[in-house]
Amino acid sequence: MAGRESSPQGLDSREPVRACTGRATQEMRSTRISSQTLSAAAFSADGRRRWLILDRDGVINHDRAAYVRSPADWHPIAGALAAIARLHRAGFGLAVATNQSGVGRGYFDLPTLNAIHAKMLAAVAAAGGRLDALAYCPHAPDAHCACRKPKPGLLLRLMDECGFVPADAVMIGDAARDIEAARAAGMPAIAVGERADVLAKTHAVPGFPTLAAAADWLLEDHWPC
Ligand SMILES: [Mg+2]
Ligand SMILES: [Zn+2]
Repeated sequence: MAGRESSPQGLDSREPVRACTGRATQEMRSTRISSQTLSAAAFSADGRRRWLILDRDGVINHDRAAYVRSPADWHPIAGALAAIARLHRAGFGLAVATNQSGVGRGYFDLPTLNAIHAKMLAAVAAAGGRLDALAYCPHAPDAHCACRKPKPGLLLRLMDECGFVPADAVMIGDAARDIEAARAAGMPAIAVGERADVLAKTHAVPGFPTLAAAADWLLEDHWPC
């Protein structure tokens, strides 16, 4: 792996991905079916499940210039958890792809990142939603890894693990590198957040102020291309 020697030891970026195919998906379907109200918006014209790949900071939770370094720093954006729940109930697959260079920079360690994600997954579940998969890049920029966005590594891995094709997925992010990673992986993108208007113009993608507003649009059976 490129840059391995400059990464802190033990940062195997494959490990954090939670498998979302096979048995796990079947269990999810069988236990969740009663709470789902499937929407045609969540399926392609030929019936394949669509996937939404969410950036984390600035999309699900408030970003911090000083990094989200602990579970106490993780605060959901208003409406984001309810939006994930609505999208989940509609039948979309939902995954997270997030750069977490704070690990590689030594600001926090992997157990702490896992604790932050445990808080996030619990908050999503408490709101009635579910994140089917999570992929993160723990590397510092100078590690020159293949997974730090705008590189497509996290998205390619999620496609492989979760079994979807780029045409059936959308990356939803608040930064140019999210949209560029999507382009590199061959999938469309949606911009959300404070800079969404600018990104919509510079990158020719749909833009919305929040994940909740993007969810409304998707659930009205729109799809970017
Ligand atoms: Mg972000
Ligand atoms: Zn990486």
